[in-house]
Amino acid sequence: MKGCEYQQIDPGTLSAPPAALPLAVPVPVAVPRRKWQVFPGRNRFFCDGRVMVAKQIGVLPLTLGLIFITSGLFFTFDCPFLMEHLTRFIPAIGAILFFFVVVSLLRTSFSDPGILPRATPEEAADIERQIDTSGSSTYRAPPRTKEILINKQVVKLKYCFTCKMFRPPRTSHCSLCDNCVERFDHHCPWVGNCVGKRNYRFFYSFIVSLSFLTAFIFGCVITHLTLLSQGGKGLMFALQQSPARYPFHILAVCFFSIWSILGLSGFHTYLVASNLTTNEDIKGLWSAKQGEDTTNPYSYNNIFTNCCAVLCGPMPPSLIDRRGFVLDHSVPPAGTQETEPSPFLAKRDKNMEECCQDHLCAAVPGGSAGDGSGV
Ligand SMILES: [Zn+2]
Ligand SMILES: [Zn+2]
Repeated sequence: MKGCEYQQIDPGTLSAPPAALPLAVPVPVAVPRRKWQVFPGRNRFFCDGRVMVAKQIGVLPLTLGLIFITSGLFFTFDCPFLMEHLTRFIPAIGAILFFFVVVSLLRTSFSDPGILPRATPEEAADIERQIDTSGSSTYRAPPRTKEILINKQVVKLKYCFTCKMFRPPRTSHCSLCDNCVERFDHHCPWVGNCVGKRNYRFFYSFIVSLSFLTAFIFGCVITHLTLLSQGGKGLMFALQQSPARYPFHILAVCFFSIWSILGLSGFHTYLVASNLTTNEDIKGLWSAKQGEDTTNPYSYNNIFTNCCAVLCGPMPPSLIDRRGFVLDHSVPPAGTQETEPSPFLAKRDKNMEECCQDHLCAAVPGGSAGDGSGV
């Protein structure tokens, strides 16, 4: 223990430091960091955390490009003709639908889908303790599932090894975004984000308004061509009249997308009316199995109430508080080191103590003992 005495030497009483020291010891000023800067999931943040996107943004630029190019061609070439020959409501209806589509898409893509913050080390340790004490005395691993009753239906809660917690009902971990998302529906590459509790209504509004927009544009282009080919001039004449043969592009896009988007809208309308998620439907969680009386415990058994609950319920607040400040104990703010030693410093002192006991520190000069370079 004799060798440890140098720990109590006040650095201020030491002789003049080496010439290189002023460069090496600028006084660390703790800059408060926001939670988005240390967010553990695979997300990217912009505007100081106000906007968040999934790291794998998928084909969102392609989605936006198809919507803008197709709508742009429609507004440029079809609208003036149809406004002149039919009604001036056509561009107005098109503009309203286009506005709905773009706003819904951006809100789906750039918002928090309902991410659950990961457990803090203290919470994780507490859960581990609960699992250990609830396990049997045999060598079998303690259970990593919990069972709860919701509307007389047994619901299994699984433990998330990444987020270190039991997932609440309807929560699933998205492997692409590396987050647990509440009321997880699916990860949609077309919108480049998870679809969950907080952005499902925008996703639904996006696909429904897109179905109307594509059907509307498709109908208008067909009407345009029909009007042009009237008077025995034929379809070829009508196509030649159209600049750059653009109807081929617009018709192809609308024709192929209309069926898939209409189908998707129909499928999600069924999910909304049943208060189901895509995840639950694909896994068949609540489909009646042989000999089992299984029903969806989240359904209100009324289509109208289900629709209201899914689409018009109160918007839950974001739980990740991405613009909040981090209470980082590992980097204490300047001036607080003496009152509240960090775990890092505690570990360093422990190591030093072990080092002293082994008499290995004897050769370490007192001036460099406190810089933590050995840790
Ligand atoms: Zn998770
Ligand atoms: Zn995701």
